Amino acid sequence: MTEQETPKPKFLKDYQKPPFGITKVHLTFDLDDSKTRVISHMKMFRETSGKKAPLVLSGERMKLIQVQLDGKEMRENEYEVDEKSLTIFKVPDEFHLTIENEIDPKANTFLDGLYKSKDIFCTQNEPQGFRKITYFLDRPDVMTKYTTKIIANKNEYPILLSNGNKMASGDLKKDKHFVEWEDPFKKPSYLFALVAGDLECLEDSFMRRSGKPVLLQIFCEKGFKSKCHHAMESLKKSMKWDEDVFNLEYDLDIFMIVAVDAFNAGAMENKGLNIFNTSCILADQDSATDDNFDRVEKVIAHEYFHNWTGDRVTLRDWFQLTLKEGLTVFRDQEFTSDLNSRTVHRIETVSILRGYQFPEDAGPTAHPIRPPSYIEMNNFYTTTVYDKGSEVIRMIYTLIGKEAFFKGIKKYFELFDGQAVTCDDFVHAMELGSERDLTQFKRWYEQKGTPHLKVETDYNESSKSFTLHLEQSNPMEGRNTPPLHFPLQLGLLDSKGKDFAIQNLIEMKQKKESFTFQNISEKPTISLNRGFSAPLIVDTPLTNKDYTFLMAHDSDPFNRWEASQELGTSILLSLLKDHGTQKEFLLNQDYKEAFTMLLSDNSLDYGLKTLALLLPTESSLGQKQKIIDFDGNHLVRKWLRKELARDNQELFLELYHSLEDEGPYTIDSKSVGKRKLKNCCLAYLIHLEKKEFIELTNKQFLNANNMTDEFSALSLLNQIECPEREEALDHFYHKWNKDQLVMVKWLSIQALSPLPDALHNVEKLLTHSVFDYKIPNLARALIGSFLENHVHFHALDGSGYRFFEEAVKTLDEINPQVAARLSNAFRKFPKLDPKRHELMKGTLETLLNKKDLSRNTFEIVSKSLKSPS
Ligand SMILES: [Zn+2]
Repeated sequence: MTEQETPKPKFLKDYQKPPFGITKVHLTFDLDDSKTRVISHMKMFRETSGKKAPLVLSGERMKLIQVQLDGKEMRENEYEVDEKSLTIFKVPDEFHLTIENEIDPKANTFLDGLYKSKDIFCTQNEPQGFRKITYFLDRPDVMTKYTTKIIANKNEYPILLSNGNKMASGDLKKDKHFVEWEDPFKKPSYLFALVAGDLECLEDSFMRRSGKPVLLQIFCEKGFKSKCHHAMESLKKSMKWDEDVFNLEYDLDIFMIVAVDAFNAGAMENKGLNIFNTSCILADQDSATDDNFDRVEKVIAHEYFHNWTGDRVTLRDWFQLTLKEGLTVFRDQEFTSDLNSRTVHRIETVSILRGYQFPEDAGPTAHPIRPPSYIEMNNFYTTTVYDKGSEVIRMIYTLIGKEAFFKGIKKYFELFDGQAVTCDDFVHAMELGSERDLTQFKRWYEQKGTPHLKVETDYNESSKSFTLHLEQSNPMEGRNTPPLHFPLQLGLLDSKGKDFAIQNLIEMKQKKESFTFQNISEKPTISLNRGFSAPLIVDTPLTNKDYTFLMAHDSDPFNRWEASQELGTSILLSLLKDHGTQKEFLLNQDYKEAFTMLLSDNSLDYGLKTLALLLPTESSLGQKQKIIDFDGNHLVRKWLRKELARDNQELFLELYHSLEDEGPYTIDSKSVGKRKLKNCCLAYLIHLEKKEFIELTNKQFLNANNMTDEFSALSLLNQIECPEREEALDHFYHKWNKDQLVMVKWLSIQALSPLPDALHNVEKLLTHSVFDYKIPNLARALIGSFLENHVHFHALDGSGYRFFEEAVKTLDEINPQVAARLSNAFRKFPKLDPKRHELMKGTLETLLNKKDLSRNTFEIVSKSLKSPS
């Protein structure tokens, strides 16, 4: 890219109110594969009368047919059109504007604006897709009322949907028909939606607390209706939960969801008409795993909850994205916790945060939850904005308490319903609800990087007092960063493992602070940041002995799990040291005993036990290293897993068999936990690479009556060099090749294979008939999963990087959003050894020099290349 073409960032500090507003808009769509006609009729006004600024509407990738101002067709010298906008030089203070333009949905592989997913027309307008449909004030602080008329061929598109209530329908000439929709709520353009297709519909209803029924409809491609029941049940549970817990009732008489194959994200909360990736709707016992069921429930809840936190109260500008996302993720996490095991869910949430958000926050694309600038907004739908954003809401909840939090939520809707607001407005409502000053807390919205907390302790035998010395720092922001305000939950354990009676919640506000606890009769063991009360990296003086003790006794189940992971990590890191000095590996005796004790403890919840038995991931080891040792991490983890399996072979086998007979398939937490634990046992056993365990796995694969067991067994066979592996992959393919969502799984595990031919196989699969670059689910499954295959992606001969370079080049032309998302794999650039660093640098430079590289990919690649190592 040349200097002039370099994309420029937009800044939060440059925000200005919109100079024009829209009273109402009427849209007409005459649908056609490559020539869809759009007519937009708007009633508009100038926000500050008397000023003479021209009207500038955003619009891209479309053909303008004509413009009418107050019913009069405009001459070409009265306006100007370029690649990004339509400027009308002179408009009065109030006026009607009619714009007619043409778009090409079939050619739209970017999957924003209006496009086709197989035979279905659908839209994705967040954040800036609407400007690819028609010229508009495409920004969230311009809210207006929409009516929409859709015209299409009646045989091909019998179902025509948009937001709100259906007002009229009828037949037209030439086999066409129309439907007209009216949304009574004002909304920004990013929440507009349209769908047309020959769809099947699962129908149900929900009785609101106020006694009014809501019609619920889930639409999908024909033949898939039977897979929508779990989504429907999840929707009804979400509606009930939001009434019970947040006091929020649904506000339209109809709620529709449509499932499509080609979708960049998981789902979209368009008002009254959510559009979903099929992966977040379709699920049944045969073809979906327990994790898939779980995800459907979660995403349905998330999008439904947006009706209030996002749609009713929306964003002033895109920098505020976490206002709706952080809050809504917090809400869906609470929903999942209330319906399932709270601790298991918390552990899973924190694992995701540590596995993805912490590395993002430590890498070249680190940003605060409210970013101060962006080049391409689509790059900021990040785990930081979503997951760290949710942790920030959770900290407010912990700091001010449940009652004040819900008072604050009530205030938030009282003050801002129907408006486009900011994160500051939200925190202000929380201050009113709690009568507390959260000024310092707001720094969480401004600082990037995961804060570190250094802990030192001091026990005074004679005064029976115990002191914690805490010091916070933020290496990402540097030395002079002002300190953050956060809650810290903790416990002090006596030598029998009982908690001392102390105040369990403290608040940290200074850079350095000490907290003293009295009446502590003996030197205690500390259990810090219980329940992960703040998203920190804690540096404690705890030893392996302390972790073993906490694993057995901590009254906080989250920290019991945490201790098991800390201990595992410490063991793996010390093995790695031995590896470096060519010492023979020896398994630490305390760890061995703690692990066996855990395995034989039958009082533990299945889900929790499984989580505690899992070893820390290669990626979590990498986070502890300045230069990542990909091969070493893989090697020691493999060795430890095998050693633990050898040591506990009988126990694993016994436990496996005891969990085998489950009766009919159900997806309650207990049954799910049972299957998880069973498959965890099998995972240890198969890594002994003994014939009997390969056969056991193969037996489970062939006889399973549900996808969880079938796919778990296949994933395990896939990791072992044996004839059963090829047969199983083949068998699975022939059984499921008509089901794209199952093929996503099939591609994904092959890309994750640790066997030597992994890359070769991935390259072959790129040309396989089930693969299609245009379907994001497939691209992510094959290319995205390979990036998680550290040993092969980071191969020393550079083959993994070369492969990815080609994949990004291809993908960037088809779908820049997906290409940019996958390019986050370059995040590890600063943590590579000199050889790999040089290789990846070559790849980054080649990509940056690519002609017409998208703004999306440019932003990620250029930031990665610039990062200091
Ligand atoms: Zn969301």
